[in-house]
Amino acid sequence: MDKNKIEILGIPFYNTTQAGFINELIFCHEQGLRKFVVTANPEIVMNARNDDTFKQILLQADYITPDGVGILIGAEKLGTPLQERVTGYDTLVGVLKEAQQKPLSLYFLGAKPEISRELKKRLLIDYPGIRIAGMRHGYFNLEESEQIVEEIIQTKPDFIFVALGSPAQEKWIMAHLQRFSKGIFMGVGGCFDVLSGKVRRAPKWMIQMRMEWMYRLLSNPSRWRRFIALPKYLQEIQKEKRLRK
Ligand code: UDP
Repeated sequence: MDKNKIEILGIPFYNTTQAGFINELIFCHEQGLRKFVVTANPEIVMNARNDDTFKQILLQADYITPDGVGILIGAEKLGTPLQERVTGYDTLVGVLKEAQQKPLSLYFLGAKPEISRELKKRLLIDYPGIRIAGMRHGYFNLEESEQIVEEIIQTKPDFIFVALGSPAQEKWIMAHLQRFSKGIFMGVGGCFDVLSGKVRRAPKWMIQMRMEWMYRLLSNPSRWRRFIALPKYLQEIQKEKRLRK
């Protein structure tokens, strides 16, 4: 196993800092590489455990980063701590800031049509100077999906953010990845809802206290289903810990 990776329940997590990860992606872009990035939480790890096809998709990712605090806790319990959370949101914002200084072109796929329209306006106000290669909402049929692939092939963006929710975004990226010659492809879940201003991110102190999940649950109680995987995840971590001893 690569020394930069820490395995949690069969999923290899990239062990780096948030700032280090943004630098690494910029470096990959400068080398003209094609990369597939997954930002994962315990729910994704458990989905992979129960769905081998999805697990095989994750194992083909170039980077899997610890997006949720549950991943950090799991890593600590197993005695192989990860440095810090490397989230889809912070990575996306980091790349947006870089794109104000560097000639990066960015493609945004996903979210509801009205959010996607709002996102474009907001990005041009909040990150003046960035280049938007394309912007498509995430409610498309097979034919439109093909048009999106063609558009990415034609426009050759440097970063492609896919916000369809997991596992749809990872499945979409992997289904088409071989057709693109370059680009950093990353699934970013609900990030466009936050960037467009529709949904608020938790306050900093809550994030620092590892309570962002609680904020998201309280502000959108219909998300409770997502937490069902958590007790089972922690149980599996305990089992794994005993096995490793
Ligand atoms: N979404 C989409 N197409 C779909 C289903 C969902 O573009 O067919 C979008 C949805 O509008 C939202 C995002 O995918 O912007 C998923 O957000 P969620 O908060 O569920 O994802 P998480 O961050 O929890 O993975």
